[in-house]
Amino acid sequence: MAIPELQWAQVNEGGRLHFKQIPVPKPGKGEVLVNILYSGVCHTDFHALNGDWPFPPNDPLIGGHEGAGVVVSKGELTEGIEIGDKVGVKWINNICLKETTYCVPRRNSLAIPRTGHSSVGASSVLSDPSLANRMGTEYCLAQAATVARIPDGCNMAAVAPILCAGITVYKGLKTSECKPGQTVAIVGAGGGLGSLAQQYAKAMGLRVIAIDGGEEKGKMSLEELGADTYIDFLKSKDIVNDVKKATADGLGPHGVILVSTSPKPFEQASEYVRPNGTVVPIGLPPDANIKASVFWGVLKMLRIKCSYVGTRRDTAEALDFFARGLIKAPYKLIGLGQLQEVYALMEKGQVLGRYVLDMSK
Ligand SMILES: [Zn+2]
Repeated sequence: MAIPELQWAQVNEGGRLHFKQIPVPKPGKGEVLVNILYSGVCHTDFHALNGDWPFPPNDPLIGGHEGAGVVVSKGELTEGIEIGDKVGVKWINNICLKETTYCVPRRNSLAIPRTGHSSVGASSVLSDPSLANRMGTEYCLAQAATVARIPDGCNMAAVAPILCAGITVYKGLKTSECKPGQTVAIVGAGGGLGSLAQQYAKAMGLRVIAIDGGEEKGKMSLEELGADTYIDFLKSKDIVNDVKKATADGLGPHGVILVSTSPKPFEQASEYVRPNGTVVPIGLPPDANIKASVFWGVLKMLRIKCSYVGTRRDTAEALDFFARGLIKAPYKLIGLGQLQEVYALMEKGQVLGRYVLDMSK
C-alpha cells in the first residue's frame, strides 16, 4: 500500500481545533510508522486543548493517544516488529527504556512540558498522535519498543480505548490492592475510564459500587457493565453514608478509583473508604487538590496512592483481559472531522462510554 505525502489532522492551535492537512512523517531510528485505523477520544486531549494543565501544552499539537493500527514502515533498529503487525500507540509513546512510566526525556503525549504532547512540524519530535487523517489513511510515528502488541482477533475499534483508558484503570485497580471478593467504588463510573474500570473490576473478581450522575449512567452501569450498586450523586443527600451502606458490613469500600473530572469526589473518598482502604486518584480535574482529614486519615490508616497510566507489562495484561472477551465497554464510532462534537459533549459531561474515531469515515 502506498503511503501518501499528506494526511488530515485535527490540530490544536491557539486554543482552537483546526482540521487541516499535515505531512506524513518518516520513521527514524527505533521508530515505526503506524497507519491508525481507530483512535479513542480521551478527556485528556480536551484538557490539553483548553490549557487545563499546570503548564502550557505544545502549540500546535495534535491530540490522540489511543490509536489502534498497523505498522506500515519502519526505521533502523526495530527488530522484533514487522510491517503488518497490529499495534497500539499509547499515551507514553517514547521512553528511555530504563524507567517505564516516568523518565526524561519522554516524548509521550504530555508529561514533560518541553517535549509535550505531539508536536507538528518538528521533524525530530515524534508526531505521535493517533488523531491525524481523514483519507482512510492516518499515519503516526511510534517508538517500536513502546507500541502495544494487539493480540490477533481483537476488534480494532473496540481495542482503541484500552490503550489509554483501559490500561490506566487496570493499573489503578492493581494499585488499590483490592482482592477478589472485596468492594471497589468507582467515581465517574459512567464515563470512558469509569465504564472500563467497572468491567476490569468485575473481571478481577471485585464487587463494584458505581458512582456518577443521572439515570442513564446508572442504567448502563447496572445493566451493561455489571455494577452491584449505583449511587447517583445528583439524587443522594449523603454520599458518604450511601457509599458505606452499599457494602455488606457498612464499613465502606476497600478501594476507591477516582476517575471523575470534577474535584468534589476527591475530598469525599477519604471519608467513605474503609479503614486500611486505598484511595486511588486517576482523573485530572483542573486546579484540584487532594484534601483529607489528617486525624481520620491516621485513625483509619488511610492510603492515598495516585496512579498514572501503566507500564508495558500492565499494557500486555490489560490487553490480555480484552482479548479474552472480558472487557466490553460501550463505544461509539465517529469520523475524525467530527471531533469537535465529541468535545462539546465532554464539556457538558454528557459522554456515555467512549467515542472512537473511525479514520475511514
Ligand atoms: Zn488518555
